[in-house]
Amino acid sequence: MTAFTMIPSLLALYRIDHDLHEFNNRLAAVMKDQVAIENNITRLNASLAEFESAGRKLQATISSHELDMKSRQEHIEKMRTSLNNAKTNKEYSAILIQISAEKEEVSKIETTILDFMGQLETNMKSASGIREQLHVAQKSLDDSRRQSSQRVAELQAHIRELQSHREQATNAVPPESRKQYDRICQRYPGDAMAPVEFNENDMDTITCGGCFMGLNIEDVNLLRGRDEIRRCQSCGRILYLPEMLPQQTSA
Ligand SMILES: [Zn+2]
Repeated sequence: MTAFTMIPSLLALYRIDHDLHEFNNRLAAVMKDQVAIENNITRLNASLAEFESAGRKLQATISSHELDMKSRQEHIEKMRTSLNNAKTNKEYSAILIQISAEKEEVSKIETTILDFMGQLETNMKSASGIREQLHVAQKSLDDSRRQSSQRVAELQAHIRELQSHREQATNAVPPESRKQYDRICQRYPGDAMAPVEFNENDMDTITCGGCFMGLNIEDVNLLRGRDEIRRCQSCGRILYLPEMLPQQTSA
């Protein structure tokens, strides 16, 4: 074969991207459970914050009602004292009516306070249930991280290594071809190229290894003759011939 450089440089980049995509997928699969637990923890924390805020509001409302009740009770005491100083029966009974009205108010406030206290108790129970769930979720996150840490580290090391090779491989591809390649990568991440699949003894059946649609003998001949991009008419992937793949001996 003549000294082709462009298609081989694309192929080298493609093979790195293909592996990168694969390792990133594996990493995502390992992380999936952890991400789900982390999302749950975020949700639980938000919910806990709501309950705590509502609890503080209830507590403040209760305190203010208690203060109101206390001042009314003091008022009742004062009025009781003033009963002794009443000069007329009329004045005396007027104070009694006031006392009775104030007592009724106090009783209403007591009921209100009890109601709020009930709400606060329910709120605190809910918050404590959420704290328990958070504890369990955090523990399962720690377990999951511990169990997968080695696998994650291995995959991340692979990915870092591929990324370091990728830069060099990218620079080896002519800019125009790289643009085309990048565009196809957006459509088929890690899968922008496809082999032309055929059997030398049966050239009637030539297919695209990406979409499995039929190709022509022309596709094979042109790829053998010219170092230029030829794409599958059906899926748009950049075609290559299996024979173009580098020998396995090259590292
Ligand atoms: Zn195709």
